[in-house]
Amino acid sequence: RGTPVTVRLVKGAYWDRETIRAQQHDWPQPVYNDKAATDVNFERLTRLLLEHHEYLYAAIGSHNVRSQALACAIAETLNIPPRRLEMQVLYGMGDKLAKALAKRGHRVRVYCPYGELLPGMSYLIRRLLENTANSSFLRQNLENRPIEELIAPPQLDPQKPEFAPQSLPFANAPDSDYAQGEIRDRAWQTLSNVRQQLGQSYQPWINGEFVSTQGTAQSLNPSNPDEVVGTVGLISIEQADEAVATAKAAFSAWRQTPVAERAGILRKAAELMEQRRHELNAWMVLEVGKPLRECDGEVSEAIDFCRYYASEMERLQGETAYDIPGETNRYHYQPRGISLIISPWNFPLAIPTGMTVASLVAGNCTLLKPAEVSSVIAAQLAQILIEAGIPKGVFQFIPGKGSTVGAHLVKHPDVQMITFTGSQEVGCQIYRDAALLQPGQKHLKRVIAEMGGKNGIIIDESADLDQAVAGVVQSAFGYSGQKCSACSRVIVLESVYETFVERLTEAVRSLNVGDASKPGTQVGPVIDAKAQQRIREYIAQGKQEGTVAVELASPEPGYFVGPIVITEVAPEATIAQEEIFGPVLAVLKVADFDEALRVANDTNYALTGGIYSRTPSHIDRAMAEFEVGNLYVNRGITGAIVSRQPFGGFKLSGVGSKAGGPDYLLQFLEPRTITENIQRHGFAPIEGAE
Ligand code: NAD
Repeated sequence: RGTPVTVRLVKGAYWDRETIRAQQHDWPQPVYNDKAATDVNFERLTRLLLEHHEYLYAAIGSHNVRSQALACAIAETLNIPPRRLEMQVLYGMGDKLAKALAKRGHRVRVYCPYGELLPGMSYLIRRLLENTANSSFLRQNLENRPIEELIAPPQLDPQKPEFAPQSLPFANAPDSDYAQGEIRDRAWQTLSNVRQQLGQSYQPWINGEFVSTQGTAQSLNPSNPDEVVGTVGLISIEQADEAVATAKAAFSAWRQTPVAERAGILRKAAELMEQRRHELNAWMVLEVGKPLRECDGEVSEAIDFCRYYASEMERLQGETAYDIPGETNRYHYQPRGISLIISPWNFPLAIPTGMTVASLVAGNCTLLKPAEVSSVIAAQLAQILIEAGIPKGVFQFIPGKGSTVGAHLVKHPDVQMITFTGSQEVGCQIYRDAALLQPGQKHLKRVIAEMGGKNGIIIDESADLDQAVAGVVQSAFGYSGQKCSACSRVIVLESVYETFVERLTEAVRSLNVGDASKPGTQVGPVIDAKAQQRIREYIAQGKQEGTVAVELASPEPGYFVGPIVITEVAPEATIAQEEIFGPVLAVLKVADFDEALRVANDTNYALTGGIYSRTPSHIDRAMAEFEVGNLYVNRGITGAIVSRQPFGGFKLSGVGSKAGGPDYLLQFLEPRTITENIQRHGFAPIEGAE
């Protein structure tokens, strides 16, 4: 009605914020594989727009003479008045075309980028890359190709699919877009509401009830330890035994509960997390000192785990037939039984959620023992699972001391499997304890242990150093270096060493260290006083082992450790070998790429690693030889996404299949084969039966 709506039609890969966000939803995202497919679609849309010229004012933006000529031809054929459409060309790029179009009586808009210099430069560079591509019209025009060829209709290659395959069947939950003021306001408002709820008490959930305990632990805000986030009841050994007995009693019904119902509970939990996203974020900011944006990514990950494992279990249910004539062979999975989850504090929501829901959806009765310092967030997770409808005894929330209750449950004869994420020291202890057959135990325990890392990034002489510096800083100092995937060693080739270190130092100097609840904070505190002390000892040692390039101050009164970069570190130095789990980065200089790979692999760990390089042979070698579970090329090494980057390591970084990947659930299941000889002659009655 009234004035037509202007629709601007342009070609090209517009990887702007909106497109990327849209990709995270599950609506169809046609991304053309082939230039000709883009052109065909452009022509299809030109026709569609012009056919509706009474309602839509078409702005045809292209420097391709064929595309513009087609628009002219359609407009002529349909007798569209000249003022009902316009042609657009970029200033300085299609001058002759603009003149020719104007001469034919068309409206022509010549546009140019306007505004900030840096985004403008990157825009122009993108245009240069596009326009100098072999398939670009402008490039072909410069090569003086025959006019017939230039204006020929685009030909689709029948061998190529028109769209890039939608290879990701799973849609990840999108993070909050804090660029929107409304979302920012809600986040900060929720943070201040949650602050009003600090200091409450949380109880374990055993046999469908909240139970009181003799022992309690206070959880403190690491940004401001005077603030008690909550008091959590710690279970006793007797209560741990009661939880196991209850789980045993609940197992028979849970294993028979249809997968659809179990998966439904996970999806409901995901929905509740989505509704409480800002609240969960706020609890994390306050309990573990993680800056808001990183908490938000973690909530998305927890939601993804629920939805992904729900659909994975649906994939694995039922039986597979390997029949031959006269014999049926049926393969299926059954749950394992009582499953113990022991989680760390550094991903206080996503990790316990992932391990717990995987175990539950597979049909196991599951006990969650969270890390003491992040028990309040774990209590929020327990609340969500309870609200989502998990039956009593099937899931139990059992906060307690790792060294007593945790160790006791690991050895409990009725516990069938232990899923642990945490330090190498504790993981190895659990592996050892679980291997001992206890009196009355009728099975061997399965242990999944995700442990530490000493993750390195290689920077070779061809690396884009701007990109490398940004990636290293984010990977090393995001969440104060307390991610298992964090970068703690950069291995730099001699020829770029000085330049890299200089830029890295400046970038680190610009980091904002402070209270995790402040919007400007990039690096918050470390988790507790013990961690702060341990990291400081490593720093003192590091100062003996290398040269301090930059060290930032530690604000008071929280458990802060200022980010520090130590250069000229030898590969065998303590700070180049041991997991520090804090904002400490060692820089190692190497002579060539061979040495870089050797140094990178020379640790006990194999969790994450990265390489910044523009040399294909180096990238190929890193892919083949860099011994890590998750390798990242030309990007940061943290922030794995469920189903897109299944996560986990090997060597002393862990044992088990990758979290958020297609093999993960299999670990919680026991495969069975049932073979039946069907070459029989009827059934015989049971002897003695009527
Ligand atoms: P941690 O080993 O100190 O504690 C982990 C859990 O084990 C806690 O719940 C703790 O109470 C429990 N525990 C402690 N002693 C125990 C015992 N003797 N028996 C049974 N349970 C016991 O680890 P943390 O400090 O919470 O977490 C940091 C560590 O986790 C780092 O080493 C990090 O690399 C690792 N991590 C690894 C991954 C991964 O996916 N590979 C992910 C996150 C964290």
